[in-house]
Amino acid sequence: MGITLYSLGAAQEVTGSKHIFEIDGRAFMVDCGAFQGRRNEADQKNRSFDVPVDKVESVILTHAHYDHCGLLPLMTKNGYKGNIFATPATRDLANLIMMDSANIQARDAEYLRKQAARKGEKFTWTPLFTEGDVVEAANQIITLSYKRKMYIAPDVQLEFFDAGHILGSALACVTINRPHYQDSQSHKPTHLWDKILGQKTVSKQTQGSSDEVRILYTGDLGRKNKAIIRDPAIDVPAPDYIVLESTYGDRKHEEADMALDELVKIVRKAVKQKGKIIIPSFAIERTQELVYYFHRLVDKKKIPEIPIYVDSPMATNATGIFQVHPECYDEATHEAFLKHHKNPFGFNALSFVQSVAESKELNKMPGPMVIITADGMCEAGRVLHHLANNISNPANQVLLVGFMAEHTLGRRLQNGEKEVRIMGDWFNVRASISQINAFSAHADYTECLEWLNSIDTSRLKKIFLVHGESDAQTVFKGYLEQNGYPNVQIVKYGETYDL
Ligand SMILES: [Zn+2]
Repeated sequence: MGITLYSLGAAQEVTGSKHIFEIDGRAFMVDCGAFQGRRNEADQKNRSFDVPVDKVESVILTHAHYDHCGLLPLMTKNGYKGNIFATPATRDLANLIMMDSANIQARDAEYLRKQAARKGEKFTWTPLFTEGDVVEAANQIITLSYKRKMYIAPDVQLEFFDAGHILGSALACVTINRPHYQDSQSHKPTHLWDKILGQKTVSKQTQGSSDEVRILYTGDLGRKNKAIIRDPAIDVPAPDYIVLESTYGDRKHEEADMALDELVKIVRKAVKQKGKIIIPSFAIERTQELVYYFHRLVDKKKIPEIPIYVDSPMATNATGIFQVHPECYDEATHEAFLKHHKNPFGFNALSFVQSVAESKELNKMPGPMVIITADGMCEAGRVLHHLANNISNPANQVLLVGFMAEHTLGRRLQNGEKEVRIMGDWFNVRASISQINAFSAHADYTECLEWLNSIDTSRLKKIFLVHGESDAQTVFKGYLEQNGYPNVQIVKYGETYDL
């Protein structure tokens, strides 16, 4: 019996996570994320996602970010009938995110259709999937809480552990029972995606065999001491293989305290200049975290109570989901809720903006104010309008608080480009752009190592690196090798790895 790993996305890149383990031709997919980045290119890549869905037995979803769950509705649309396993909070957040994407695509299609009509051009673009596909995909999700074992196939057991990344995020521990086989070199696994991947098998099973093979998928590995959620679990069963993310394989985050100091500075500057602070933020986790930190700084009187607007219906809805999943909270947050009846996501200066009209009102209102708005990489959503309206005024500030993928508007701002294109028009960047990395939901390379050192690696044979840009992965591989993990494989698109 052969077990083979490969990736159909997030191989030497950070979006589009789709990892497969195949047992004798039966495929199991871990995450089914959408590619993000340069619009046409991402659309093209997502559109060409075409796998033999009838050969996929199950999908395991590690967490609800779009680059991990975004193509589930497309799988369903293409005929996938199997189960999708996720934690209850991931299911709820993923439903929100998938539906939001369907809505945005429907609106984009409408907009492009009108534009084409005006120019007398032929309109061809269609959404990848519709709201109906999302409903069907949602119906395929089976929830599994943390630390509850479940057989997802007669020979495959799944258990989720805290990943410490976003609400509901999980490390997926997969245990495969396989019979002994003697001649490991002679087995010929059938690679379902040979046509896509080519036939290049890189690693061979080296020796022996065991009754069970355990693969630990980190999904996105979070960090210790994040607000609201628990730390990444270290009490995971000893894995034989780890499929490890490497987003920050070459970067170290700032300390959280320094980040708060930076936040104080930025708010004070806004007060002085009567400017607006635009914070492009993911609607889920980062927004709630920012609200939590602003709440803390106001409480400590480190910043004056200036108006803070969460201008993202999705962030508002996500906050509602946070409130119904106390099983995901860390102790501190649990205490704050249950013991003191306090709401960490709400205080006087904070408003949740719902309607487009209210959102537009913000343009006319004078600063100082903070506008937290989606999406986090400035590729879609209300953030585009806020940037278009505010980016050319030197009194304003744009605060970047997340990872910006290549070819996104967020990355261009991060790179200090002086002129950027927003919704088709060019704007001079006169607002100051600053960045705080400490809020990251991804472990940096030192934190990844610290986590690896904390878990039981006594039977670890190999680490597979995914979900990272090529340069970062090369640095990270070297760092891991220097620190006691000699077998590290950077997963490449088109290569398969036999276990
Ligand atoms: Zn993520």
